[in-house]
This record gives sequence, C-alpha cells and structure tokens, in this order.
Amino acid sequence: MSRPAQSTLSQPTVAIAGGGPAGAVAALVLARRGLRVVVLEPAAGPRDKVGETLPPSLRPLLSHLGLEDAIARDGHRRSHGNRSFWGSDQASESPFLANPYGSGWHVDRHRLEARLEAAARRAGAEWKQLRVDRVCRRGRRWRLELSQPTAVGRRQRETLEVDFLADATGRRSRLAHHLGARRVRYDQAWPAGQPRALC
Ligand SMILES: Cc1cc2nc3c(=O)[nH]c(=O)nc-3n(C[C@H](O)[C@H](O)[C@H](O)COP(=O)(O)OP(=O)(O)OC[C@H]3O[C@@H](n4cnc5c(N)ncnc54)[C@H](O)[C@@H]3O)c2cc1C
Repeated sequence: MSRPAQSTLSQPTVAIAGGGPAGAVAALVLARRGLRVVVLEPAAGPRDKVGETLPPSLRPLLSHLGLEDAIARDGHRRSHGNRSFWGSDQASESPFLANPYGSGWHVDRHRLEARLEAAARRAGAEWKQLRVDRVCRRGRRWRLELSQPTAVGRRQRETLEVDFLADATGRRSRLAHHLGARRVRYDQAWPAGQPRALC
C-alpha cells in the first residue's frame, strides 16, 4: 500500500468537497468574504445530472449573488410552471402566472454549472480536480486525504489541512456519511442528513 505524499497545494482556510451548484455558490460567497477557498471536485467539468428546473423563487437569491442577469443571458429556456409528482402518483401543478418573481428556467445544466464555477473562480476560489476520500479532525483543523486517477489507472494521493470543511457532495453526502451522519426522513420523497458524530 502506498503512503500519501504530502500536499503541494497551498493551505486554504476552507475546503469544499464537490463543485456542483451548492459547492460553487458556497465557494463564491466565502471567497467574496475574503476567505481562502479550494473546491475539490473529481470531475473534469460539468457532467450530466438530473435537475434542470429553477423556480422563480430563486431569482432573489441569484440577484443577491449578482448572477441573475448573466444567467438570464445564458440562453436557458423560460419556464412558466411546474408539474411534479412528490411522494404520490397525483400530479401537482404550480403555474407561475401570478408569481411575483415572474418565470423560472429550464436550464442547460452544463452551462449553469460552468457559469457558477466561473463566478466562484473570479471571486478567488481555487478549483482542484481531486476526490476527497477521507477526512479526519486534527486538533482544530481538518485533514483531508485526496486522490485523482493517473494515466496508468492508479490513483495519485495527497493530503491537505484546512480550518473549515464543507460537504457539497450532493444527495449522497459522502463526507457526512463518512463522519457518521445518519439520514432523517421528513417525508416519503426526500431524505435529509443530520450529523451524529465527528471522527
Ligand atoms: C429526479 C431528480 C430531479 C431533480 N430535479 C431538480 C430540479 O428540477 N431543480 C433543482 O433545482 N434540483 C433538482 N434536483 C436536485 C438536484 O440534485 C440539485 O439541483 C443539484 O444537483 C444539487 O446540487 P449539489 O451541488 O448539492 O449536488 P450535485 O450537483 O450532485 O454535486 C455534487 C458534486 O460533488 C462531487 N463529489 C461527489 N463525491 C465527491 C467526493 N468524494 N469528493 C469531492 N467531490 C465529490 C460530484 O462529482 C458532484 O459534482 C433533482 C434531483 C433528482 C434526483
């Protein structure tokens, strides 16, 4: 078994595992606040993912982030309502006709994620193509074991220590699970996590 090499990365204050919408927006906000942020995302670029609708209620948040105009110019299709099935086989309709924020969007997911990543990078966040394999508390800091695939099918490993760590690995919540969090079900359709213990 090979030992992880010491990190050659700079020592940022916050590491965010996952560069999807949650990770990118967290990075954007924290970098704008002057924190040193590194996003650790194993994928080389935006990938196909389910979830392509943004409701009108998201507009105030996008506006607050200074992203509403850019996203409006990105060519996503306007959405005038949602029809969804949520924990039942009965469709639920939500037309946006009377919505105070107007219409939503059917987004091109790649374009949306590229836009969010670009905004976070512009604010100063670093992006590293690395997967977080393990995390552990070390005194007041977090120690992360990271890896990326090599051309010969192995994984190159390195470590990183940071002051703060955010799990933005999506629904699977990989770090939260790794640290012992368990899912709490609020309804039949969607589980949410509640941390049980650190390492
Ligand atoms: C059927 C379905 C329909 C949906 N429809 C909608 C919708 O219409 N509108 C909507 O807003 N949402 C929808 N969603 C929710 C959708 O999951 C979210 O929109 C969005 O993908 C969540 O963003 P995220 O950044 O939290 O996670 P993700 O987009 O999943 O990003 C997580 C990132 O973490 C990375 N990652 C994973 N493991 C590691 C690791 N060990 N180390 C580092 N990085 C890691 C992944 O590569 C990934 O890029 C839907 C979900 C489902 C299942």
